Amino acid sequence: MSEINELRSKMDEITIEMIKMLKTRTEIAREIGEIKKNAGKGITDELREESLRIKIISLCKELNFDESIATKFLNFLLNESVKVQSSNKETHLSIFLKAKSLESKGKKIIHMEVGEPDFLPPQIVKKSLSEVYDKGFLKYGPSKGIPQFREALAKHVSKLFEVNVKSENILVNPGARFGIFTAINTLLNPGDELIVIEPAWPAYKDCALHAGVKVRAIETTFEDRWEPSIIQIEKTINPNTKMISLNYPNNPTGKILPLKLQEQIIELAIKNNLYILSDEIYSQYAYVDWKSILCYNYEKSIVTQSFSKSHAMTGFRIGYTIAQNDIIDKLAKFEALCLTNVSEPIQYIAMKALEADTADNTNTVRRRLELLAKKATEMNLDFVVPDGSMYIFARINQAGFDGVRFANNLLDKGLAVAPGEGFGNYKNFIRLSACQDEEILTEGMNILSENVRYI
Ligand code: PMP
Repeated sequence: MSEINELRSKMDEITIEMIKMLKTRTEIAREIGEIKKNAGKGITDELREESLRIKIISLCKELNFDESIATKFLNFLLNESVKVQSSNKETHLSIFLKAKSLESKGKKIIHMEVGEPDFLPPQIVKKSLSEVYDKGFLKYGPSKGIPQFREALAKHVSKLFEVNVKSENILVNPGARFGIFTAINTLLNPGDELIVIEPAWPAYKDCALHAGVKVRAIETTFEDRWEPSIIQIEKTINPNTKMISLNYPNNPTGKILPLKLQEQIIELAIKNNLYILSDEIYSQYAYVDWKSILCYNYEKSIVTQSFSKSHAMTGFRIGYTIAQNDIIDKLAKFEALCLTNVSEPIQYIAMKALEADTADNTNTVRRRLELLAKKATEMNLDFVVPDGSMYIFARINQAGFDGVRFANNLLDKGLAVAPGEGFGNYKNFIRLSACQDEEILTEGMNILSENVRYI
């Protein structure tokens, strides 16, 4: 008994020492964060993390210690550093909230920061809102969604993407954001790694951070037309890598990957047994050849979809996930735990919305994107002409340009834009969204043009 007590007291000592060291490490991380902020650098430095990772792996070999445990522990430490350095990150959402607050004080603001279509949901939505009470969709329901709705979604998806999806492959979500949160939190464990191709909508990273999952960012560049390098992705994969997230048509760049490159990524995922989380929320806004990940019949694909952009139903909070039924079962358990089921009346309304023809929305956004591209070209901004989605991601070619400062100053001039920093290490970029009518967008681009000139 005295032996076990002795060992236990050693364990206590080590644990206490580790906590003290963790405190020191966190303080240093905070200091580094301040220095990076003042120097205008992004939070995560992949090269720096990689060099530490290599040191840890070689230490494990030297000590004959399990690499997987050590690198998972390292991932925990790296994520903690990211958390202490992320407190003041400005994204399109923080600019949106500031714009809203200025508006409440009477200021006129043109919203080119958020991806929220200004047009209304289809007319049938209005009718369904008034009939849902009598239809009786008013109570608790099955956690995966109303059976008729799942059936209708399966048919809709099968027709749209020329695939064979059954209702058992569908999980109804309260918006795609929750679908993504559910997939990351359910299918990954703390210390696992998720590959994200940047620039990226910030929620993949934030959901991962919340789940204790380490994000490995693959930075793409304007010069490479936002195309990731297969070699770079391959080099990033290790035994802890469990998922890669894709988002094409892309927010914020508007990029659609050439099909060959998309296929290479899928092959890589299959070879390494990775989940593919494909956020296809902008599929309605694809203006060049685009193929859903569903078309590849890979059993570890998870596709997230939504009514927010296609049907302009952002406020309804309704979306869905498509995957193999064993994955759907796992995701559904998590969703049931969090929210029992998605609101039945909203599901009914979304089911009716599927009957509407939304082709006009596609054409409207396309015209607006063309207008933004024309104006951005006139202003000599660097950007890749979007293949789809609702955005232009433009670089402002001025020394020391800081998108966050610029976006904040622009609010005073009556224009809200999204700073590039919210999407990764893209400080000298801004994202412009094509979600207002042409007249308003023209006015917004004129304000932008004036202010780019006078920086
Ligand atoms: N994915 C992407 C790429 C998005 O841009 C957004 C919203 N801007 C979402 C998901 C979230 O959509 P939802 O409203 O369905 O939660």
